[in-house]
Amino acid sequence: MNLQRFSTSKVIQDRQKLVILGTGWGGYSVLKNIDKKKYDVIVVSPRNHFLFTPLLASTTVGTLEFRSIIQPVRESRFRDATHFHLSHATNLDLDNKILHCHSVLNPELKYTINYDKLVIAVGALSNTFGVPGVEEHAFFLKEVLDARKIRNRILTNFELAVGPKIEESESKRLLHTVIVGGGPTGVEFGAELYDFVQQDVAKLYKEQQKAVTVTLVESDRILASFDSRLRSHAENKLRARERFTLIQSSVTEVFKDSVKLKDGTILPCGLVVWSTGLAPRWFTQNLKVAKNTRGQILTDSYLQVLEDKSGSVYALGDCADIADVPLPCTAQVAERQGRYLTDVLNGKKDSKIPFEFKNMGMLAYIGSYEALTDTPDVKLQGFTSWLLWRSAYLTRLGSWRLRMQVPMDWLKTLMFGRDISRFD
Ligand code: FAD
Ligand code: MG
Repeated sequence: MNLQRFSTSKVIQDRQKLVILGTGWGGYSVLKNIDKKKYDVIVVSPRNHFLFTPLLASTTVGTLEFRSIIQPVRESRFRDATHFHLSHATNLDLDNKILHCHSVLNPELKYTINYDKLVIAVGALSNTFGVPGVEEHAFFLKEVLDARKIRNRILTNFELAVGPKIEESESKRLLHTVIVGGGPTGVEFGAELYDFVQQDVAKLYKEQQKAVTVTLVESDRILASFDSRLRSHAENKLRARERFTLIQSSVTEVFKDSVKLKDGTILPCGLVVWSTGLAPRWFTQNLKVAKNTRGQILTDSYLQVLEDKSGSVYALGDCADIADVPLPCTAQVAERQGRYLTDVLNGKKDSKIPFEFKNMGMLAYIGSYEALTDTPDVKLQGFTSWLLWRSAYLTRLGSWRLRMQVPMDWLKTLMFGRDISRFD
């Protein structure tokens, strides 16, 4: 008995303290796979859930419900409930291995924690490129809260548009949505909105359907990272849609009720969704380590932060980049990096083997049961690709609860339409 007690406490003393910053694709992947017998795992994140971002656009119109695509991180078997901190990391003292934190729920609570090993996976922010009015008036699509705000705004605009004493021009403005940025996020949001209009607005706001318009503003080409044939297919499909306009330009200012384009054109609108790339978070900006021109933390190919002499700080996902091996900012990369790192930390992989990324391909939904599949071996478009899109994500959802909820939401939407109840 005594012996057993002794051995348990010995193990605890030997355990290293591993601190993970962030509960997104990178951080959650480390949290799920790390050997908790080997490490005391502490997580610091302003978000107590993991978000399955590839399906976030579907929640903006109610094809899926918000809770169907998030996973509470406390279900990841923490040894102790105090090991999860609902806080922002604010600063890092690399020399003394001390992390500064600021509680989300109690603004007066600022504290520090020490670590043996640290994984930085704080992700990135949407880039406004300093365009005036974006922060105040545009909507981002990064978090569940963003999707909820967009959904509310869409439903508010529809109610206002059919309200008493409404002028026709005002009604048209409310029903015009401007999407800025033609990457997968912008295109997929447009696709979801299109389905909503075709399938639900057509029944519930019959007269208004014809007044609903969408403009996608992209300075270059849409879906630039996709195979050129698939991209052209998507472009033709979108252009062929009634009341959908693709404009090659850039937005120079966003106002409460309109946007201004580079050539001075003013587009009155009721909703602006901004999705034009990434910028470093404040925590990343503050870190005094080597970074690339985009402000990402530079690591070696073992994901170790270049300027950390202790060799115990790692960075991965959107907040980081491997020097000389630029990687795309995707869930796929962040998740793989998290798995690679846990294999090394768990002692399952030789720490001399560098991280290597093998692209499994990309998927994008473009609306009306059509998607693009772009993998090294297969290039597919259309309905089959849509089936692939849905089944691929279904298998990647992290838990059986989500794997049940998501198809149930899809079925409900198909049978009864989307729920358009509006509440704050
Ligand atoms: P994130 O997943 O953003 O996680 C960052 C975490 O850090 C969050 O938990 C955040 O709360 C936390 N955090 C923030 N600040 C702090 C702080 N100061 N201290 C501690 N924690 C902090 N990629 C694909 O491969 N396929 C897709 O189909 C796809 N679709 C997408 C759709 C949308 C709408 C979006 C927004 C992104 C999509 N992506 C997709 C990109 C993908 O989601 C990102 O590349 C991925 O999330 C990056 O993972 P990450 O762990 O670096 O950051
Ligand atoms: Mg990266």
